[in-house]
Amino acid sequence: MISAGPGKRCRHVSKTDFASQEELLTITAALLHSARFLLDGPPAREALDHFCSDLTQRVPNVVLAWTWFGDAGTDTIRPHVAAGVAKDYALNLEIRRTMLTSVGPAFRALRGEHVPPFAVSPNSPFSPWRDASRQYGIRSVMALPLESSVDTQRGILVLYARVEDYFERVGVEAFRSMAGLFGAVLSRSARLEALQRAATRDRLTGLLNRNAEPLLREKLRRAGEESAPSAALICDIDRFKSVNDAHGHAAGDAVIAGFARLIAGRVRSTDIALRWGGEEFVVGLPGASREGALGGAEDIRERLAQGAIDIGGGRTLRVTCSIGLAALHPGEDLSDALRRADEALYAAKRGGRDRVVAAG
Ligand code: GH3
Ligand code: MG
Ligand code: MG
Repeated sequence: MISAGPGKRCRHVSKTDFASQEELLTITAALLHSARFLLDGPPAREALDHFCSDLTQRVPNVVLAWTWFGDAGTDTIRPHVAAGVAKDYALNLEIRRTMLTSVGPAFRALRGEHVPPFAVSPNSPFSPWRDASRQYGIRSVMALPLESSVDTQRGILVLYARVEDYFERVGVEAFRSMAGLFGAVLSRSARLEALQRAATRDRLTGLLNRNAEPLLREKLRRAGEESAPSAALICDIDRFKSVNDAHGHAAGDAVIAGFARLIAGRVRSTDIALRWGGEEFVVGLPGASREGALGGAEDIRERLAQGAIDIGGGRTLRVTCSIGLAALHPGEDLSDALRRADEALYAAKRGGRDRVVAAG
C-alpha cells in the first residue's frame, strides 16, 4: 500500500552541511519511537507503512524508504509500502529478475546478503538510478534484507538518502538493526497467519470449521448491505450414528469426508461451507435468493442420495441427508438465521429425513 500524496522533487545535501553524529541520534530516536508500535501487533503491512512514514518524516535526509515482502522465489520486486518526499520514485519502480538485476542490490538483499550501500549520481550507468539522482537529489542507497524465521517468506527494505556516503557516515549498523526489527515483525505476522489458517481449517474435510463463523457472518452482512438476498443451509447426515455402529468410526469419517467433497463441489465460489461439527455442515450463500438456495440444497440432497461413498476396503455406502434452509430477513444476524435453519432441519428429520425444509 503506497499511500497517496504528492512526492516532491528535492535537492541533495552537501557533505559539509551534514553532521553524522546528530543524524544517528535522530535515527535512533525514530527507531525507538516506532519500535513500540511495531511490536504492538497491527498487521505487518500497516506497521511497516507507519514505520517508513515516521522514519522519513523524522529524518529528512532519508527521502525514501520502501519495502517489499512475500514469496522468497519472486521474479518481480515492486514496493508494497513506500514513504518519503521521493515516494513517487517508488510508485513507478519494478525490478524484474534478469541476469543483470539478479546480481544487483535488491535481489542480493532478498537472498539475505548484507549488501554494502552504493552511490548514485546524475551520471549513473543505470537509468532508474540516474532518475533517482536527477529528480529527487538521491545520492546514496542501501538495500537491506528483512530476514524472516519463516523460510518461504522474505523481504527487503531499501533506503535512499540525499547525502553522499550517507550510510557509511552514519554507520550501517543502525539501519541493519532497523531491518532486523522489520524482519521480526514479518516473521511474527507470517506465523500468526499460519496459526489462524490452522485454527479455522477442519483436518478431516479440509473445509473451514466453526471458528470461521465470523468470516461467514461478515460475508452475509456485506451482501445484506448491498441489498442482495442471502441464505444459510444446515445439512446433516441421516442416521449417521448407525454408520459408525455398523461399519466403524473410520468408515464414518470417510462418509463425512465424502459428504464434504460433495458440498464443496456443488457450492459457488462465493459460498462458504463450514463443518459445523460431527456430520453437520453449514453453507452460507451470499447473494442467493430463497428459490436459488432451495435449488442448490435440493441438488446436494439428491446427489448424496444417488451416489455411493467409498469407505475403503472396496466397500461403498449410500447415505441420505436432511437440510434446513433459512433465507435471511433484511438485517438478520447469522445466529438468528441459523436458529431458524436448525428448526427447519428438525422439521425435515421429523418429516421422514432425506428432504429439504425451508424456514417460513
Ligand atoms: P439424525 O438422522 O437424527 O441426524 O441421526 P444421527 O444418528 O445422524 O444423529 P446424531 O447427531 O445423534 O449422531 C451423530 C453421530 O456422529 C454421533 C457421533 O458419535 C458421530 N460423530 C461426530 N463426529 C464424528 C466424527 O468426526 N467422525 C465419526 N466417525 N463420527 C462422528
Ligand atoms: Mg445426523
Ligand atoms: Mg447431527
